[in-house]
Amino acid sequence: MSEPLAPGAVIGILGGGQLGRMLSVAASRLGFRCHIYDPAPEPPAGHVAWAVTTAAWEDAAALERFAASVDVVTYEFENIPAASLDLLEARLPVRPGRRALTVSQDRVTEKDFLSGLGLTVAPYRAVDDAVDLETALAEIGAPAILKTRRLGYDGKGQARIMAADQAGAALAAMGGAPSVLEGFVPFEREVSVIAARGLSGAVVCYDPGENVHEAGILRRTTVPAVLGPGQQAEAALIAGRILNALDYVGVMGVELFVAPQGLVVNEIAPRVHNSGHWTQAGCAVDQFEQHVRAVAGWPLGDGQRHADVVMENLIGDDVARVPALAQEGDVQIHLYGKAEARAGRKMGHLNRIARG
Ligand code: AMP
Repeated sequence: MSEPLAPGAVIGILGGGQLGRMLSVAASRLGFRCHIYDPAPEPPAGHVAWAVTTAAWEDAAALERFAASVDVVTYEFENIPAASLDLLEARLPVRPGRRALTVSQDRVTEKDFLSGLGLTVAPYRAVDDAVDLETALAEIGAPAILKTRRLGYDGKGQARIMAADQAGAALAAMGGAPSVLEGFVPFEREVSVIAARGLSGAVVCYDPGENVHEAGILRRTTVPAVLGPGQQAEAALIAGRILNALDYVGVMGVELFVAPQGLVVNEIAPRVHNSGHWTQAGCAVDQFEQHVRAVAGWPLGDGQRHADVVMENLIGDDVARVPALAQEGDVQIHLYGKAEARAGRKMGHLNRIARG
């Protein structure tokens, strides 16, 4: 498929969480229908989608039926099993493509890729056992962070090592999973760039936002981020280099540390990103519409920011604040339709336009 998808076409989305939900809303605004595929019953995206398949990633027959009912496939999370992708890719376009998933699914592959592009990353070493860890710690030094290579998110699968005597406990916390030791980057702030690349190869970047995490979970994004001279352009160039190298189609989140040595790439997410939710209030074309435009082969929106925005996540019990927040007429409230407000669970977010 190289022609732009016409309204009425069906976009298949792997994963039915809040990102899939907001993609589905954006797609429906452009006249598309979305078919969500998720192993969990009642996915949040299902409330706003045209069709939902509830089936395991390994269910080849369900994947076949899904593929037959959609025109293009995209995804809202990066840990889709390789065999499921093989099946889908053989039948229809999957955007963003395989390379982005392969690179981002494994922290060592990701860092090899990024440093291969000449980008700065934290010092890192692959760690499979206590001997590897001892060597890696001797080379990199403490403080450092041990992370599982795969399946980590929201700070899960990570252990800090402040001194060598904490190595054993950190390794035990990985539960035997292949890991990577990263040197601690003494960052001044964390920022991210949300960038998109269209089928034509055009690249559009949103302004970098500054991110504050609590307990490993994104709490707040503020745009514009405070950056040194030239760093905003540098951040956009970094994102562009990554997208072009992957021949990427869609929206990507690129997380950066602003450190004394300059911009250090922490990680990339081959999908719409929590730190890009501010674009819903700050831009004519937000990250969700941008992603849909890209995967549908449409021209990209320009991504220009028309306001300063603070995005705040509603995590767990924060959702109880919604009635009070609703009294404030200028707060944009997004709720994800999740029934149970468990601790650490992202229930929704707010966008506030900052007025000078
Ligand atoms: P990650 O899952 O890799 O994004 O890590 C979650 C959070 O841990 C980041 O947003 C940082 O606040 C912190 N972090 C991760 N890696 C490093 C590092 N190498 N140096 C300093 N802080 C880090």
